[in-house]
Amino acid sequence: MDGVKKLLAGEALSREEFVYLLENRAHLQPMLTKKAEETCLANYGRDVYVRGLIEFTNYCRNDCYYCGIRRSNCYVNRFRLDEDTILERCAVGYGLGLRTFVLQGGEDGGYSFHRLANLVNAIKTRYPDCAVTLSVGEHPKEVYQSWFDAGADRYLLRHETASTSHYRHLHPERQSLQTRLECLENLKEIGYQVGCGFMVGSPGQGVAELAEDLFFIQSFRPHMVGIGPFLPQKDTPFRNEPSGDGELTLYLLSLVRLMLPRVLLPATTALATLLPKGREQGFLAGANVCMPNLSPEEARKNYTLYDNKLSTGTEAAESLQALDKSLQAIDRTLSLSRGDHIERTKPYV
Ligand code: SAH
Repeated sequence: MDGVKKLLAGEALSREEFVYLLENRAHLQPMLTKKAEETCLANYGRDVYVRGLIEFTNYCRNDCYYCGIRRSNCYVNRFRLDEDTILERCAVGYGLGLRTFVLQGGEDGGYSFHRLANLVNAIKTRYPDCAVTLSVGEHPKEVYQSWFDAGADRYLLRHETASTSHYRHLHPERQSLQTRLECLENLKEIGYQVGCGFMVGSPGQGVAELAEDLFFIQSFRPHMVGIGPFLPQKDTPFRNEPSGDGELTLYLLSLVRLMLPRVLLPATTALATLLPKGREQGFLAGANVCMPNLSPEEARKNYTLYDNKLSTGTEAAESLQALDKSLQAIDRTLSLSRGDHIERTKPYV
């Protein structure tokens, strides 16, 4: 059986079969895009789940070559939101109807593990009907456990690339793919709904690397997958590298939807930044999650992972109505439920 048939039948593919799918994108994409959308509708219906994204610190101990908030970038205005500000943003988001808050940031030693646990606890105490997602990088298992015990429900940690040599190309010596993957395993063991993912078109990435990413996702079976194009940031070592390919990003969304029919798959801000109708195209290719920006102004301005990052149009949480309208135009509806992974939905208050 060839790769396409296996993919559509829900069977596991080999690395070579993923390579085949990638190399034959030109003629496969239209059909697989359609199948991916159908698969999404069959599992989650027309709902698109929204998450309020709060970028709460851009301090980071890491030095990833692609990332605009890397430690060595001395042109960044560093900020760290205090608890009151974050809770205020949650109140705004709750008022808008959001029932998931995503706290994302650099690996900031200034935000102690304990402090973050208390913050999670405070959010969950005020909003017991909401999910809290953390996305704050690599930490020891005990720390992940303490945040889970404080009430965190989900964790996003993109693996960035599943190839050891490519990982080395994107990160300095002190970071390793092995540690990243151990973190993902630990998060899953603890009981989080876990998201991994990667950038499309990161420097040094070719078909073999993408096939490795798909192969990894197939075996890891995450609950969520974040995929967006690489976009250069002017103060990083990759400033002169070209942006990732938007169409290829859309194709990868479709492949992931078909591989993991129940995955929660965001149409990312990076995709919306690259393509004028990126968000909508993402939903038509199998995505069913959107993460509008709920950060305060100061954070939006300075959380500069890449150049020209959108944050004030339909990407902004304040524009949920506009987002709803753009979804209606493609026959989808904005859902204000928690939007848990189907296998992880329990009756919540
Ligand atoms: N510190 C956290 C959050 C990182 S920022 C962590 O390590 O998980 C969230 C994601 O943005 C990263 O995982 C990366 O895939 C993406 N990102 C960073 N720089 C980018 C760039 N230049 N272009 C596109 N995406 C980028």
